[in-house]
Amino acid sequence: MVQTAQSVVFEGVAKRFGAVTAVERVDLDVKPGQFVTLLGPSGCGKSTTLNMIAGLEWPTEGRILIGGRDVTHLPPSERDIAMVFQSYALYPHLSVFENIAFPLRARRRRTAEPELRERVRQAASALGLTPLLDRLPREISGGQRQRVALGRAMVRIPTVYLLDEPLSNLDQQLRVQMRSELKDIHQRLGATMIYVTHDQGEAMTLSDTIVVMSGGRVEQLGSPRDLYDRPANVFVARFLGEPGMNLFEGKVSGGVLRGDGVAMPTVLGEGRAAIAGVRPEDLIAADPARAPIKGVIRTVEFLGSRTLLRVDVGGAVIAAFVPLGVPFAAREAIGLAPSAADKVRWFAADTGMAL
Ligand code: ATP
Repeated sequence: MVQTAQSVVFEGVAKRFGAVTAVERVDLDVKPGQFVTLLGPSGCGKSTTLNMIAGLEWPTEGRILIGGRDVTHLPPSERDIAMVFQSYALYPHLSVFENIAFPLRARRRRTAEPELRERVRQAASALGLTPLLDRLPREISGGQRQRVALGRAMVRIPTVYLLDEPLSNLDQQLRVQMRSELKDIHQRLGATMIYVTHDQGEAMTLSDTIVVMSGGRVEQLGSPRDLYDRPANVFVARFLGEPGMNLFEGKVSGGVLRGDGVAMPTVLGEGRAAIAGVRPEDLIAADPARAPIKGVIRTVEFLGSRTLLRVDVGGAVIAAFVPLGVPFAAREAIGLAPSAADKVRWFAADTGMAL
């Protein structure tokens, strides 16, 4: 199926609903064929952003360009986009074939039957649905149904795919499987895909670029690796990772950041209020007498390949992964240290921005 992937550009796009600012002056530059994820907690403005690309909402300010064409005020039907929603509602009385073919029959300019058959055949083949074309939705699995919804988007040969939490109705195992399938489909189609989720794991595995949003603003935009290793601020540091980055707040005195249960060597200037960030996998157990982080183990969680400790440090609970086989127990005192000095990220205490 020939796709002409298109770029999507936001120029200072804002959306207000009365007094509510859903999206604040966002600039975006999605290249043709990219997989871009809008990631953030509930209410951060990601669906509104997607809906503006679809044409379901119009911006209050700014311009949206698809493939270089200003579509800011065009209706959805004139944008060559296809949208897949969380609730993909297939028609229960129609076969898989007819469900996929539906957009081609329903459109004002109907597609001729031979071409329609060819497009459904190609979409079904790309999605591994060929043997299921005669079945009804209730006769296939949840993951297969999700693929039918994707097929329904594909037959329109859109220039941009918009996906709004399309996997969130699936159980955990299926979600992980569909995630890999979606990545594979994206690579084979070479299509531009813009994906909305609040699940950071999904965003990390699928995306070329992640746009982290909160409160209608873009907090940071970059590759999953960049965002994970070099978060621009404490919001991104905490939001990415399972669990997120541990943050230790304190004040610098004598070359050491001192806080409750924390004494971390630093090059920051005397008297500075700062936050040290260390990922759970970058902490190692150390002699409690001399460790830069001292705490008491709250819980010990066996995860199969490693153990997750929740540790109370000065009243805040932090997380640390430790190897299996080392005996730790709840209520024990423990010392922790960063595995290397460059594993510590530094943030300003007042703004939360990376230093
Ligand atoms: P979720 O993950 O819960 O869907 P989201 O990140 O997609 O959240 P949006 O749906 O884009 O968030 O909403 C952003 C903000 O705009 C929220 O504060 C929401 O209440 C508000 N909002 C969205 N649509 C409208 C509307 N039609 N009228 C008024 N406020 C709205």
